[in-house]
Amino acid sequence: MKRERRVAEAVEPRHKDPMTLTLSPVDASPIVAARDILRRTFGHAEFRGLQAQVIGEVLAGRSAMAVLPTGGGKSLCYQIPAMMRPGLGLVVSPLIALMTDQVAALTQSGVAAARLDSNVEPEDKAETWRRIDAGELDLLYVSPEGLMQPWMLDRLGRTPLSLIAIDEAHCVSQWGHDFRPEYRMLGRLAELFPTVPRLAVTATADARTRDDIRAELRLLDGAEFVDSFARPELVLSAERKRGGADKRVIELVTARPGRSGVVYAGSRDKTEKLAEALRAAGVPALAYHAGLDKRLRETRLEDFLQADAAVMVATIAFGMGVDKPDVRFVIHADPPGSIEAYWQEIGRAGRDGETAEGITLYGAADMAWALRRIDGREMDAAVKQVQVRKVRQLYALLDGAGCRAATVRRYFGEEAVEACGQCDLCAGTVETTDATEAAQKALSAAARLGGRYGRGRLVDHLLGKTKDVTEQEKSLSTWGIGTELSAAQWRDLTEQLLFEGLLREDPNDGRPLVGVGDAEAVRAVFRGELRVAMRKPPEGYDPSTRSGRPRKRTREAMASLGPADQPLFEALRAWRAAEAKAQHVPPYVIFHDRSLAEIAAARPASHAALARVNGVGEAKLEHYGAAVLAVVAGFAGP
Ligand code: ADP
Ligand code: ZN
Repeated sequence: MKRERRVAEAVEPRHKDPMTLTLSPVDASPIVAARDILRRTFGHAEFRGLQAQVIGEVLAGRSAMAVLPTGGGKSLCYQIPAMMRPGLGLVVSPLIALMTDQVAALTQSGVAAARLDSNVEPEDKAETWRRIDAGELDLLYVSPEGLMQPWMLDRLGRTPLSLIAIDEAHCVSQWGHDFRPEYRMLGRLAELFPTVPRLAVTATADARTRDDIRAELRLLDGAEFVDSFARPELVLSAERKRGGADKRVIELVTARPGRSGVVYAGSRDKTEKLAEALRAAGVPALAYHAGLDKRLRETRLEDFLQADAAVMVATIAFGMGVDKPDVRFVIHADPPGSIEAYWQEIGRAGRDGETAEGITLYGAADMAWALRRIDGREMDAAVKQVQVRKVRQLYALLDGAGCRAATVRRYFGEEAVEACGQCDLCAGTVETTDATEAAQKALSAAARLGGRYGRGRLVDHLLGKTKDVTEQEKSLSTWGIGTELSAAQWRDLTEQLLFEGLLREDPNDGRPLVGVGDAEAVRAVFRGELRVAMRKPPEGYDPSTRSGRPRKRTREAMASLGPADQPLFEALRAWRAAEAKAQHVPPYVIFHDRSLAEIAAARPASHAALARVNGVGEAKLEHYGAAVLAVVAGFAGP
């Protein structure tokens, strides 16, 4: 396995029981048995990160919460204990797509799993209940509202349960970014099933959300496992929107041909428009948003999952539970809502551990809009304040000058975090110069103009180029004092001063007016106590021609695959596509690209050699071994 082991971080499991405070080593034998299942059923050599510890805790019959990054392997944390402990393992999941995918993948690996949700046919439901009653099923996936129906609880109350897993547990917290009221009911599980261990898992939760999850789900006595949020496979970048932001998105996508990606846009309309423009540019792009007919949404999701290279242009309605492992880029055509949302949305790229990109376009107008939306909402003043801070923290990250990955990890409470070395800011494409004097000019001009005009007029004023200028404006001391900078530079600086709160924009029904912001900070700028550093555009920067060429540092996906192995890899993918089509499942539930790449490189000639490939467990070996070996044999040299 080439993937780096993730380092378990800072937060130690917290036990209330003084007997376990010393972190008594988990009894080794259950973990040995668990590793055996990891190898035989799932085909993975070793546990990753905190998996073994979380599994040990659940196997010991204790409840816990685990916060692992996207792609960190959360599902095995409950799947393996559910297979080992007597009884049925319940998995609460917020989305049908997520359940369908996991059940398909488990079935492929020979695990007895099923789901009960509104989409399941009555006869399939009856069969599932028969298997439950016969004790044949290891895992049952249910929605929160499905689980909490009285008849369901009653029936499960008479069924021996091995554990209850609550997936995407951050949905329970209103401090998080994806609050789902129906998750609140899950707190009752503690008293309904007092002897069943409960495991809450999530990929995103700052300290406050974590505390909220544990309180709401009554897990305060349980251990808390928090893995590092590092995602070394993600190459992050962000850029301010300039004129023609949609064109920029098309540029970025077309510069990444033959790859799967997600483009997030802020409105339904925009997803349709962008998808159409992308199709016109020859990209197989689909739009996805909550306004589409459910059927259509499902077929589009399926098309995206099945495709080897497709681009989904979507609102945030698309996402949770989209486990396509080979998404190579996520582009935010409009910025996300918070750092949590950023990490989760960007995190949908590179789940297979291969290099992937996260690119965000943002502007001060987006920030103003986000703040205004919060302002208009009816909620607790305290909640509002937290939401406003989250927005500000997001834009500080996007427009800031420090390593992006490190900023996110610190935000999630990690300590002693090192710079990632590969984001745009680490790679040093963004340089800054001191712009305090220019900022003073812009601030004076804004003050003199008295908040009556928009950004364009402010820039024209500084340059002394305002059309239809009044004598009164011409007589102001700031008229034409800024000829040392270009209009584009003034626009950039204005944008930055808005981000920093030195200027403020009054939305004025879509025709925003610029005025002076935080008085205290503005005074500090005039006294020279607060310096303003402006981003220098990269050498030779020309927004109209700057292409979206992938960054130099980006390693090609599947770097391990030499050109000589490429034809075999493609042949294996073709075999997989046919197999997936015949079974009506996404290709990656059969084998991940990574497994196929390993096979193409290793060219196994026997079942035993094939079994050593990552992701090839016993069931898959039995089902597909002969076919895969035949494809490989077809490529054997003379
Ligand atoms: P998430 O934490 O995002 O829910 P998943 O449980 O879907 O992640 O796992 C992400 C991917 O990592 C899956 O393809 C899974 O097979 C793989 N995986 C999980 N655990 C291991 C492991 N110990 N070794 C190798 N691959 C693993
Ligand atoms: Zn970095």
